[in-house]
This record gives sequence, C-alpha cells and structure tokens, in this order.
Amino acid sequence: MSSSAPPPSTRGILRDRYGRVASDLRISLTDLCSLRCTYCMPAEGLQWLRKNERLTDDETLRLAAVFVSLGIESIRLTGGEPLVHPTLVPVVARLSALRPRPELSLTTNGIGLVASAGGLVAAGLNRINVSVDTLDRDRFARLTRRDRLPDVLAGVAAAADAGLRPLKVNSVLVRDGNLAEAPALLDWALCSGYQLRFIEHMPLDADHTWSRAEMVTADEILDIIAASYDLAPRGHNGHAPAEEFDVLDGPAPQRWATRPGRVGIIASVTRPFCRDCDRLRLTADGQLRTCLFAQTETDLRGPLRAGASDDDLAEIIVTAVAGKQAGHGINDLGFVQPVRTMSAIGG
Ligand code: SAM
Ligand code: SF4
Repeated sequence: MSSSAPPPSTRGILRDRYGRVASDLRISLTDLCSLRCTYCMPAEGLQWLRKNERLTDDETLRLAAVFVSLGIESIRLTGGEPLVHPTLVPVVARLSALRPRPELSLTTNGIGLVASAGGLVAAGLNRINVSVDTLDRDRFARLTRRDRLPDVLAGVAAAADAGLRPLKVNSVLVRDGNLAEAPALLDWALCSGYQLRFIEHMPLDADHTWSRAEMVTADEILDIIAASYDLAPRGHNGHAPAEEFDVLDGPAPQRWATRPGRVGIIASVTRPFCRDCDRLRLTADGQLRTCLFAQTETDLRGPLRAGASDDDLAEIIVTAVAGKQAGHGINDLGFVQPVRTMSAIGG
C-alpha cells in the first residue's frame, strides 16, 4: 500500500448479528458521585469500587484506543459523576489525541463545571449534557439529597460560556417529584438556548423504586408540554435516542434564544429504540456492556492486566458485540432488572 493510501475502513467491524454497527462508546470514569438522586442512588451511596478495581487512566486510554481502531467514532465520558474524577481534563486531552479522533462529550450533573469548563474545552471536549431535574432549590435538595442547585446552574452557564453549545439538558421526570415543573423547565431552556430532553425513568435504580404504573411516560410528558407549547415532530437525529420536536410557539416566545426552539424525549421504556442502538458501555472497572439492561458483561480489565495484546482485546470486543442482545426487554414478561444500577454502568 502506498503511504498516501487512506487507512482501511474500520466501520462495520463492530457489527452484531442484527446488523447494527456500534460507533458510540460510553466510558464510566468513576462510580463515585457528588449527588444522591433518588431515582438513581440510595441515600447512603453504593458499595463503591476499590481503587485497584477501577481502571487506571492508562488502562482506560489503552482500551479506548482499541475501540477507536475498531470503528468507534464518538466517546462520551460519564459515571457516576465524571467531574469528581481528578484527572478528567488530562483524560479528555489524551482521548482527543487518538486517531481517528473521536468526537468527545460529557454527561455530568454540572457540579464543578465553573472551575473546569474552560479546561475541558481546551483539552478537546466537543459537547456536554448537564442533568437538571428542577429549578427549585428545595425540590432539588429533596430529589438529589444535596443542596447544590446554585452550583449546578452556575456550571451550566459556565459550560455554555466556554462554547459548549448547543448545550443539552437532561431531565428525568418523576411523579410526585418534578412532573408539574416540565413546562417551567422547558421555558428556562428555551430562554437560555439549551436543548432540553426529558428522559423516561428506567428500572435501573438501586432502591428499586421504579414501577411501570407510576413512571411518567413519553405520552404523558408530551400531553403536558403540548398544553402550553405548539410542537412539530422532527423524529430522531440519526442514531440519537431522543425523539425531537421543534417548539414553534408558546408563552412569551419573544424571550426565547432561538425560534423555533427544540425539545426532545428519550422514551427508552415506552418507545424503545433498540433497533437503532449503536452504543457500547465500558464500566469504571473495565467491563464491556453491550446493553444498559444486559444480564452479562465482558471482562476487559482481566485480560488487559494479564498482558493481552491489542489484537487479543480487539477480538474479545468483536466477539462480545456480535452477541449483543436484540433489545432491552423491559416490556417482556419476566424482565429482570440488572444487578448494576445506572450510576455503576454509566448512563
Ligand atoms: N452523574 C451524571 C449525571 O447525572 O448527568 C452522569 C451519570 S447519570 C447516571 C447519567 C444520566 O442518567 C443522568 O441524566 C441521569 O438523570 C440519568 N439517570 C439516572 N438514573 C436513571 C434512571 N433510573 N432512569 C432514567 N435515567 C436515569
Ligand atoms: Fe449521581 Fe448522576 Fe446518579 Fe444523580 S443521576 S446520583 S448525579 S450518577
């Protein structure tokens, strides 16, 4: 091959038996978190991983490089809370040096962003999602068991100021929690120029509080916001899980940052998008999960520490992806919630 020839295409190596090609990797950098959201973690926290159970940054980067060589095009850092990982900025810088360079994004609760947003952008972060379930300080303290709303809102503003736009905001709606606040959250996002996405509560919480009868469905969310806002469906953007809507009109649209505005709904439970899923997940202890709801995972840390070559690791990954399950099965009779909770998997 001449030196000017393009590198062989890697797209399609990570193909499963249903024809889906994985191109997006979520890396959980830590299982630790600065909040205790009631729909995610128990008040006392979880049984945290021991230091030697967590991947080191070098191990994470080594695995990320193998994934990129197999066709992963975008990497999202998550947790737990990725901003409590002390070397997050250098990790982003090292990921951005991989070739082909993956698109880099972060899902965070926003606490600590005031200090780190500029550094993250300089290191190569491309996009950010910040989770904000309420704008009411007391409700925030109840929902997350921590009185940190001012830090979160300052973090959101700092990220936007640092150039991380369009900034996405994630809100999980829970009945008897923040459901009635959905229109106010949308008004705030529209006026600030953020893209709000409502997320259906999924059966991944440690306290097993999820119940099908109580969960707030996409239909219900749409009914609530359509009572105040004029929405036009846009469908899904590529493999993205959010069903998107243009917001054409609503209360005081002259205050909005753009018109039309945009809102999304991630309806993993009532409108599953497994057929289009292009995601893989690497947990903080080096386990590969091909589905949020998988009952099995593939150990990469063990082989890595036992001296596996990049080719060995690639083979393990390709085999795991080939066996990816057809769908999450939440709506099947006999569905069993996975042992790992959302924060231990990396949402
Ligand atoms: N700590 C960061 C945060 O909260 O953005 C990143 C990790 S968190 C697990 C990622 C996303 O998962 C957040 O938007 C959070 O609201 C969402 N989440 C957590 N538990 C959930 C559940 N049981 N159902 C649906 N979404 C959940
Ligand atoms: Fe922490 Fe995110 Fe879970 Fe809330 S949703 S407890 S911020 S990991």
